[in-house]
Amino acid sequence: MTEMFDVTIIGGGPAGLYSAFYSGLRGMKTKLIESQSKLGGKVLLYPEKMIWDVGGQPPVPGHTFVKQLVVQALTFEPTVCLDTKVEYVEKTADKHFLITTNHGEIHETKSIILAVGGGIIHPKRLDCPGAEKFEGETLHYTVPSLKLFYQKTVVVSGGGNGAIDWAVELLDIAKHVIVVYRQEDFPAHEAQVELLRKRNATILLNSTI
Ligand SMILES: Cc1cc2nc3c(=O)[nH]c(=O)nc-3n(C[C@H](O)[C@H](O)[C@H](O)COP(=O)(O)OP(=O)(O)OC[C@H]3O[C@@H](n4cnc5c(N)ncnc54)[C@H](O)[C@@H]3O)c2cc1C
Repeated sequence: MTEMFDVTIIGGGPAGLYSAFYSGLRGMKTKLIESQSKLGGKVLLYPEKMIWDVGGQPPVPGHTFVKQLVVQALTFEPTVCLDTKVEYVEKTADKHFLITTNHGEIHETKSIILAVGGGIIHPKRLDCPGAEKFEGETLHYTVPSLKLFYQKTVVVSGGGNGAIDWAVELLDIAKHVIVVYRQEDFPAHEAQVELLRKRNATILLNSTI
């Protein structure tokens, strides 16, 4: 059995990282458990994409945002467990919690903050026969570096903020950007959609790959 913590945060994305900072600010003995090998959650998927919509923060690329979140989160020196997936939580008779991880360790805590986002991060794969053959070559579910698309024709599938923000960033890098979205209008931020429409992108609505 490990030592007792006041709060254990499950998930090291933006929500978990800020929770770790705030728990420390309130003088709580804090532990953070994250299944990935790095802190940052989904933002690790878009290190070069600009983030426009965080209060008090001028537009900033994902990797800088993660760096800032981590510095803030570690201010009060919480215990951090990386590469550790929480598999099971049970409440004890004295109303504490026992958290079991994939390594078989048990963590004891008086309270839990669930900051798991959409859960363990997996891409939603393209539902096309044979698509997996092109994964990592010409079919990508993350953009680790915009340079990959220099002077290429790039098809972006989707119409939410992630897709439209990427399409806008790619306008200055790629030869041509084509956005394919299944609905008749984009649900993404209007200002970004307008930027996309004003520039030389091809937009295919009511369409799927
Ligand atoms: C391509 C893309 C672009 C985006 N652009 C923007 C943007 O510009 N602006 C914006 O505001 N938002 C943007 N978002 C959304 C933003 O990234 C998410 O809203 C944000 O990351 C959610 O934070 P979170 O901490 O709630 O969850 P997450 O970031 O999902 O973090 C949850 C963490 O919990 C961990 N976890 C889950 N289950 C367990 C478990 N059982 N045990 C241990 N760990 C676990 C996961 O590994 C993950 O690291 C974008 C998302 C994507 C995909």
